[in-house]
Amino acid sequence: MKLQELKKITDTFAKSDKMPAFFIGHGNPMNAILDNPFTKSLEVMGKSVLQKPNAILVVSAHWLSRGTFVSTSPKPETIYDFGGFPAELYKVTYPAPGSPEYARELMKDIPLVKEDPEQGLDHGAWTILKHMFPKADIPVFEMSIDYHQPMQYHFDLAAQLSSLRQKGVLIIGSGNIVHNLSLWFAKKDESPYDWNIEFDEWVKDRINQRDFQSLIHYENKGASAKLAVPTPDHYIPMLYSLALAGKEEAIQFTYEEVFSAASMRAFRIG
Ligand code: ZN
Repeated sequence: MKLQELKKITDTFAKSDKMPAFFIGHGNPMNAILDNPFTKSLEVMGKSVLQKPNAILVVSAHWLSRGTFVSTSPKPETIYDFGGFPAELYKVTYPAPGSPEYARELMKDIPLVKEDPEQGLDHGAWTILKHMFPKADIPVFEMSIDYHQPMQYHFDLAAQLSSLRQKGVLIIGSGNIVHNLSLWFAKKDESPYDWNIEFDEWVKDRINQRDFQSLIHYENKGASAKLAVPTPDHYIPMLYSLALAGKEEAIQFTYEEVFSAASMRAFRIG
């Protein structure tokens, strides 16, 4: 998608009391310090949020747990949860305050969620927020992914987050629809594998048809699903975003790109 087209779409977003929700394919942590069409799309997405959120909740592929937790630290640290990148990436910080207040609001709504006062911001959160909200002046908290639960659990849990949108909380799922690290590293060039294109297009189509049940049971898609989602850590955040889509709400793709064994597809709800 051309940036100008994206600008045109975002200009049409009406001011609403309900916060939009996003899913973002975050890809390589290096995007935090790069300037490319993807990071430009993040800037546009940030600016398209017309009312300043009271807080941002990120459900990231990089906080997996047993049980579901929210971060309640008032000053979450920037976590460098990756290895082997250039030194300058480890100097980037995202000093946004935490939001124990909204984290506890969430715990009130969903009592099975417990608090984690130590958790900082993982790179699924800060590498994208850096471009979306560069001032880092909006409180941010995260909710973990209980990695021992089936897909339906995540979808049902996420649906209960809806009321936070009415309270001014911007919810962002951060993962990648297609994410196969070993085949990504094995590939000599950036051209997308056929199964990557196939699975990404299938997901796009299912979203357009609002057939979320098929996306919950993505394994039924067969061979391309096995390669695109070898482990579901980067896929699950998308389910958290989709579960927030009200029947009347538009879902608009804000970025599309497939390369090697990854899809950077992103969308906005509301
Ligand atoms: Zn990741």
